[in-house]
This record gives sequence, C-alpha cells and structure tokens, in this order.
Amino acid sequence: MATHSSHKKLTLRFYPYELQLKHTFTVASCSRSTTPGVQTEIEYDGLIGYGEASMPPYLGETTESVQRFLSQVDLSPYAHPSDLDAILDYVDRIMPGNTAAKASIDIALHDLYGKIQGATWHSIWGLDKTKAPSTTYTIGIDTPDVMKQKTMEVAGQFNILKVKLGKENDKKMIEAIRSVTTLPLAVDANQGWKDKQQALEMIHWLKDQGVVMIEQPMPVAQLEDNAWLTAHSPLPTFADESVQRLHDIRKIEGAFSGINVKLMKCTGMREAHQMMLLARELGMKVMIGCMTETSCAVSAAAQLSPLVDFADLDGNLLISNDLFKGVQLSQGKLLLNDLPGIGIEKI
Ligand code: MG
Repeated sequence: MATHSSHKKLTLRFYPYELQLKHTFTVASCSRSTTPGVQTEIEYDGLIGYGEASMPPYLGETTESVQRFLSQVDLSPYAHPSDLDAILDYVDRIMPGNTAAKASIDIALHDLYGKIQGATWHSIWGLDKTKAPSTTYTIGIDTPDVMKQKTMEVAGQFNILKVKLGKENDKKMIEAIRSVTTLPLAVDANQGWKDKQQALEMIHWLKDQGVVMIEQPMPVAQLEDNAWLTAHSPLPTFADESVQRLHDIRKIEGAFSGINVKLMKCTGMREAHQMMLLARELGMKVMIGCMTETSCAVSAAAQLSPLVDFADLDGNLLISNDLFKGVQLSQGKLLLNDLPGIGIEKI
C-alpha cells in the first residue's frame, strides 16, 4: 500500500476561457474581438499552480486541440512537483507541436513548485527583479488619425511603444505617432519586407525617426536576406517567426541580432530560460514577448524579464476579463512582486 495520503498526488484540471479584447484587433485580412484560451490548474497537497494556453488563430492550435492534448496527460507516475524536468520531458514527448498546450502545463507546474518552495521564479533563477525592463505597448494598426489618438491616450504611461509595420503605409504610421510623442519606438515588420535593399533604406529612415529595434524584418524563408540585412542594419534585428524553440536558435545564428522568446511558442518557462541562456552564450540579444493572455502567462513570462533587452508584455493590458492580479507596471516598467511561484493571485 502506498503510504502517502490520497491528496498527495498531482491533479490536472483545465477549462476553456475566452479572452475578451478591450478593442477589436484589425489586421489586413480580418478583425477579431476575442482570443481563444484554456486555463489549467495542477493541484498538490492543497496548493494550486495556475497555467494558461493562449491560441491566436495564426498559430494553429485551438481550444479543441489543447483540450485533446491535455486529456492525454497522465501525471499519476510522478510523485511530486519537484519532478518538474521529468514531467515536462514526458509532456513534450506525447506529441510534436502543441506548444501552447505544453506551455499551460509548464506554467502551472512552475507556479505550483515555486509555491511549495515559497520562492518566486526570478529568485530561483537568481535574477534581480530591479533589472526588469519597461514593457513596450503596441499601438494597433489603424488610420493615421486614430493611431495619433491612441498614442496620445497611452504615451504618458509607457517608456517605449511598439508599432507593427510591413505594409504600404509604414512611413505614414510612424509619422502619425511621431507627431504626438518623442518616446522610443520598437517596430515589428512581421516578415512584411521582401526586398533587402528597400528594407535597409527603411531601417535607416526608421532609425532617424527614433526607432530602436526591428522585429522579424523579412520572411522566414529569406534567411540569407535577413542575415545580409542584419549585417548592414544600424538597428538590432530580432527573430520572431524565425525562431520557436531551443533547437531553432543555432539555425538562425548570425542572421539576426537577437531572438523574441514567447512561452506559447517554446512550450513554457523552462525552455524559455534555456533559450535565453543559449542566446546570451552566442552573443545574441534577447526579448520576451507574449500573446493576448491573462496576467497568468504574462506574469510567468515576466519572471524572465530581468534577463532581456526588450520586453513586449502588454497582452494582459489588452483584455477586459483578466482572472488574475500579477505583474504590475510602474511608469511603464515591469514591477515583479514577491508572491511565490509566478507571482499571481486569483481575482
Ligand atoms: Mg512579432
């Protein structure tokens, strides 16, 4: 007979939770006002760790696929949350892909294990929370007048803004924002520039406009062009679509100045941390990004933020139905708390 009482086992629960966006998101092809998500909980000995999967449509996972994956996870062979590495290795082997589903387990397990240790993850990793950077805040694509208006509404609360470019009106959008703020700007071209010479001219122009970094300037398939551009660019370039997981980093080494790590792409906090350490070893820069998420996944990502050059952690600010209170902002700077685990409380 097993000697531990029945509640000393790992129990996984999950349920779909649709995120309501404060403002409708408009991209060229479509607009949407919700993002599908799944919330997870792993309980052990009266403590609950919280996790989350967020599935923006372009990533291919759905509420159904995440729940299907999670129903296959069997934690019964594992005795304690400290089996974290063994559990996450097992979860990763269940099926390829499904990175958001895997992240939802990883985050819940980190939250639980941190709570058992009575420690925050930034302290377990030996990070200094006062080194957490400011987050960027994205000004959504719109008409120049609306972008001006949106910028004026938020400029006082942030130290750096982000703009998505890669379409025909790039310069007009930057000029609209520039007409109302002097804040530094981060630019995400989302693979939108196809010609390397034109891209380089654009980057020189953007630098003159106070832009400080460029995310995914050219398509994933044009690795050589991205490499040429990075070699000539006066601004650092960051791979987003070109890098998902740890094993992708060496494939793009030299083609970008840095990488954008996101928990939903890379299966969660454990691999995100490994990616950051490897990137640093290779002399690359690091940023951390997110999807539209509650303060659960955003606070989990924020635990890593003292390690990054840029943080793009505004996903929880964009929703109206957050379930947690977690990482806060102080004049735009990420303010990590001392709550054990990933630093969240249920609202
Ligand atoms: Mg991006």
